[in-house]
Amino acid sequence: MEKNFICILCPRGCRIKVDDEGTITGNFCKRGIGYVQTEMTAPTRVVTSTVRTIYKEIPRISVKTDIPIPKGLIMDVMQKINEAVIDKPMAIGDIIIENILDTGSNIVLTKPCLK
Ligand code: SF4
Repeated sequence: MEKNFICILCPRGCRIKVDDEGTITGNFCKRGIGYVQTEMTAPTRVVTSTVRTIYKEIPRISVKTDIPIPKGLIMDVMQKINEAVIDKPMAIGDIIIENILDTGSNIVLTKPCLK
């Protein structure tokens, strides 16, 4: 059965089809092929969220995974992020949680915290 995907690797958002023979069409560039192959075997996502801080001026601050994680672990990763608290000034890119759930991905700040 034909499968349809929307590539999310860039704003172009190509609509990509994979037919019964595995032929991939609709991708503007080669990255779309890799995206579809990953989606069909082991889908991953970058997770974005916020972490609590001890500071009244900035009660929550935005974070993300520095590389995509397996889609099936998103809820568990979100729970770990919800448990974290920032209690010191930190810069963009600083690691809040290292190697979260052994995925090889770190949770990093995407905004500075009091710096
Ligand atoms: S296939 Fe290439 S051009 Fe199209 S959305 Fe994906 S990355 Fe962008």
